[in-house]
Amino acid sequence: MKVGEPERLIIDGKRLDGRAFDELRPIKIEAGVLKRADGSAYLEWGGNKVMAACYGPREVHPRHLARPDSAILRCIYNMAAFSVSDRKRPGPDRRSVEISKVTREALEHVVFTHLFPRTAIDVFIEILQANAGTRCSGITAASVALADAGIPMADLVPACAAGKVGGEIVLDLNDVEDNYGEADLPVAITPKKGEVTLLQMDGNFTREEFEKAFKLAIKGCKKVHKIQKEALRKKYGGT
Ligand code: ADP
Repeated sequence: MKVGEPERLIIDGKRLDGRAFDELRPIKIEAGVLKRADGSAYLEWGGNKVMAACYGPREVHPRHLARPDSAILRCIYNMAAFSVSDRKRPGPDRRSVEISKVTREALEHVVFTHLFPRTAIDVFIEILQANAGTRCSGITAASVALADAGIPMADLVPACAAGKVGGEIVLDLNDVEDNYGEADLPVAITPKKGEVTLLQMDGNFTREEFEKAFKLAIKGCKKVHKIQKEALRKKYGGT
């Protein structure tokens, strides 16, 4: 057993933070919080605190990156030095490069990039406080920031993870569950078409467990989608 590892992660059918297996941590999203960005969103999801800002469509620098027939979408995921318990060394690392890439792939599928040739749409995701599930938090917030910027999109992109903890398939792992659980499966979807734009897996599932976790993660994404829509409705009204 590792230092700090709890003896059990599931006690009397409940998780250590008291949640049911299919229960999300509390989520709050506010759209349009930054004056100088074209679009922005602030999200709190359990112990995660995330700011997403979006700029564009705007001129591309360096110019050779511009595409004649579409906009390019660029995403940067960054964890603040103070976002985790041990200070994180500032600047990009392998993990942030990977998360930036999968975030771009999760989002670019819905953005109508062909409407804005020779431009760039830039998305910055700053993790101010981390408590597992920051890539899902980042994608969820960034998608609201893109909508807040008025960038035409086919859909919002909610994201949510499911995993295996103490032998049980559970939704939305917190940091203790992520550190000491058996598996984690972050998923992002486009709710209208039901496409999956992010699917990663850390740890091991049997085939049956994978299917159960995948379905649970999609259920989670649908709940997250409602919260995204509420945030935009609160700012802009409408149905
Ligand atoms: P995600 O945040 O998407 O779940 P990971 O599985 O890579 O991505 O990370 C899980 C959690 O581990 C993070 O949310 C964060 O709480 C913690 N973590 C990640 N990187 C660091 C780091 N450099 N130092 C301390 N904790 C970290």
